[in-house]
Amino acid sequence: MKVILPLLKGLRLTFSRIFTKPITYQYPEKKHKVPERWRGIHYFKKNEAGETACVACGLCVKVCPNQCITLEIGEKFDGKRYPLKYEIDPWRCIYCGFCQDACPVNAINLGEDYEQAHYRKEDFVLDMKKLLAMYEDKK
Ligand code: SF4
Ligand code: SF4
Repeated sequence: MKVILPLLKGLRLTFSRIFTKPITYQYPEKKHKVPERWRGIHYFKKNEAGETACVACGLCVKVCPNQCITLEIGEKFDGKRYPLKYEIDPWRCIYCGFCQDACPVNAINLGEDYEQAHYRKEDFVLDMKKLLAMYEDKK
């Protein structure tokens, strides 16, 4: 009787839930819906020419509390600045969103993505290529 009673209780619970709507879902086929103000992985917006909208002003670098943004500034023949190198170290990033708020041209943004899984540590670094590719995924 000691064994039967808990077993029956368990079965009663199982059968009572069998026809109710499940509260779990199949991840990763179905993704978690993030809140509206979620701050996830960064992406770069593009301008009309299909290049990064970043004008290499350096404000995001200055405002970042963890110094996780590396910016190397290039200059075009017309004197306009552009990011020669732009990298975000996600190991240091706290996803505060200050860089997004400080950007005068709305180039750097924090998106909805939250999945970061790689085999090598260096693959986590968000370089220009990845930041622009993240933008493509949004369209
Ligand atoms: S979200 Fe915050 S910590 Fe991360 S790169 Fe931007 S400013 Fe730095
Ligand atoms: S991402 Fe925005 S704030 Fe940062 S350097 Fe580029 S233009 Fe300036």
